[in-house]
Amino acid sequence: MDLGFFFSRRVKFDILTVMKQTGIEHAPTLKPTGKKLRIGWFSFSCCEDSTIMFTELLNDHWQEWKPLLDVRHARVLQTKNTLDEMDVAFIEGALAAQEHVDTVKQIRELATVVVAIGACAVIGMPSAQHNIFDPARQEEIQPLLKKFNYLPKALKLSEAITVDVNVPGCPMNEAKFLETLNGALKQFNIVA
Ligand code: SF4
Repeated sequence: MDLGFFFSRRVKFDILTVMKQTGIEHAPTLKPTGKKLRIGWFSFSCCEDSTIMFTELLNDHWQEWKPLLDVRHARVLQTKNTLDEMDVAFIEGALAAQEHVDTVKQIRELATVVVAIGACAVIGMPSAQHNIFDPARQEEIQPLLKKFNYLPKALKLSEAITVDVNVPGCPMNEAKFLETLNGALKQFNIVA
C-alpha cells in the first residue's frame, strides 16, 4: 500500500483510552499471529469525511497496523486495488444509483463481515435528503436524477445488503470504529 500523502491530525488519539472505553482491555497484551486482516474501504454517495478520519488513523497507527492489515481495496489511499475476498469490507455513503447497489452486492459476496461506516451508510442521511423533498421539488430534480442515472430514492446500505456492524456518526464514531477493527483482529485470529 502506498500512502503518498498525509492529512493533518484533527483528533488526538489514545488507543489505550479507547480500548478502556470500548472494553477491549486485554488488547495491549495480544500478539500478532503473522496473519493479516484483509480489508476493503469503499465510498459511495457521500462527502468521504469518514475516509479522512480513517486516513488520519492510518497516519497515527501505520507502524502498528502495517503488519496486521492487508488493504485489498481503498481507492482513496492507493492506486493498486483488488476486488477479491476480504475479511472485512468498510462501506461509507448512501447508495444513489443502481450501479452502487450492484457493486455493494458484489462486495457482500466477497466479504465475510460488512461494516456500514457513518450515518449516510447506516441510515441514509444526510446523503439521501432528496428522498424527503416535497412533490414540487421532486419534480424539479427529475432531470438531474435521469442525467446521472440515479435511483428515485437513495438507499441506506441495509436496504440493499445484509450489514453486520453499524458504525454510526457524521462522520463516523471513532471509538466504535476502533472497537470494530480491534474486534475483527481478534475474530480473524490476526492477534491472539
Ligand atoms: S455520514 Fe456525514 S461525514 Fe459521513 S459521508 Fe455522510 S455526510 Fe459525510
